[in-house]
Amino acid sequence: MNSSHPEPGIKPINQPAKQTLTERDSQVIWHPYTQHKNMLSPVPVIQGKGSLLFDDQGQGYIDAISSWWVNIHGHAHPYIAEKIYEQARKLEHVIFTGFTHEPAVRLAERLLEILPGDFSRIFYSDNGSTAVEAAIKMAIQYWRIQSKPRNKILAFRHSYHGDTFGAMSVSERSLFTAAFWDHLFEVVFIDTPTEENYLETIEQVRRLSGQIACFIYEPLLQAAGGMRIYEAGPMDRLLEAVRSEGILCIADEVLTGFGRTGRLFASEYLQNRSDIICLSKGLTGGTMALGVTACTPRVFEAFLSDDKTNTFFHGHSFTANPLACSASLASLDLLEVPACRERIGEIGLKHGEFAKRIAKYPSVRNARSIGTIVAFEVNTGRDEYINEVGATITRDSMRHGIYLRPLGNTVYIMPPYCITNPELDKVYEFLEGCIGHQFSQPLSDLKTTE
Ligand SMILES: *Cc1c(COP(=O)(O)O)cnc(C)c1O
Repeated sequence: MNSSHPEPGIKPINQPAKQTLTERDSQVIWHPYTQHKNMLSPVPVIQGKGSLLFDDQGQGYIDAISSWWVNIHGHAHPYIAEKIYEQARKLEHVIFTGFTHEPAVRLAERLLEILPGDFSRIFYSDNGSTAVEAAIKMAIQYWRIQSKPRNKILAFRHSYHGDTFGAMSVSERSLFTAAFWDHLFEVVFIDTPTEENYLETIEQVRRLSGQIACFIYEPLLQAAGGMRIYEAGPMDRLLEAVRSEGILCIADEVLTGFGRTGRLFASEYLQNRSDIICLSKGLTGGTMALGVTACTPRVFEAFLSDDKTNTFFHGHSFTANPLACSASLASLDLLEVPACRERIGEIGLKHGEFAKRIAKYPSVRNARSIGTIVAFEVNTGRDEYINEVGATITRDSMRHGIYLRPLGNTVYIMPPYCITNPELDKVYEFLEGCIGHQFSQPLSDLKTTE
């Protein structure tokens, strides 16, 4: 028998001494957003249930950030798992040019029913970054097809739209992308609108009249840029002005979609709709990778042409993966249950009370909340991603059976909607302990709690 393909259950000779999962990980894995020199060992996760994650020692952790903002109905949800399994037995994947399938069409029909705006077409890709790439490419090609090329793109300061090159280009020039600045395309960055500055921003946009292809924005909440919440009123007036210049508007709802901000989509807080909307993260309930770029007839119909070069030449191997589409349909079923929508409202109220309560601590700045997200800055050190407050809170939270991962000194909670009140209270209490005790001292004196 070929010794490189042992039968299951037959042990190869000279098997090395049994290593732990973390030891094996340390030899073969490169983790995202992780400096591997002197890194802390990753925690082996064996199982998830509801808002809890369990490690190999049986220790549970409340997943207070929804596993990087994706999970909305809790881990290993049996209903979603069942639907993925059923689909896997029927059809796991098929090329999506020249073929179609029920989960992709049904999901498109259901999304078009609930999306805020005049959307008529769903373009599938693999994740949030690719949903953004597709949106930008659609917008640029839209103008080129009409022989009115517009080569400027408008985005907000402090924005984050993903880690691929186009997505990095329309994101804040930050420490995340510093190594690539020379290779990113030029973008006109404007401030998020306030009552004070929006008229000036509108002037800036008018001066570039006819040159701007598209405007990409995270509606009402800039997440990775520091959980910054901005007001709907001035944003609507800015959108009105932008739209009157013919500029295509791209709402990046990769994070804010599917109930995160209290409404089903954050764009629902605004009067002005976008021409393109990007979805991912909560789309599949956080169970599988899938991206959606939806567009209006104005965009789609511009590409209809006898000239083959006017095709949208974009696609990914796993476009419209049937398993991911089935997971999304199941997640939508769960979102439509009235109890789920009520729970989103309850979390919002509790977050609001927590924000009020902690605002009085001298170590807390700008406590704020929107829907299922609550955030504040710890007044220690500089406002930056590498502020040690983040790593300290992560370490301490895990000792308390909670997983938190602040953005530097910007601390936030973004739980799955199934989190219970006692679990939520435990997270609040832990954070009140932090801001009431160790963060009342300067950073250099920081001690972690044992
Ligand atoms: C996370 C995020 C992205 C990128 O999504 P990935 O799936 O991580 O590529 C894009 N836009 C926003 C607003 C996000 O929060």
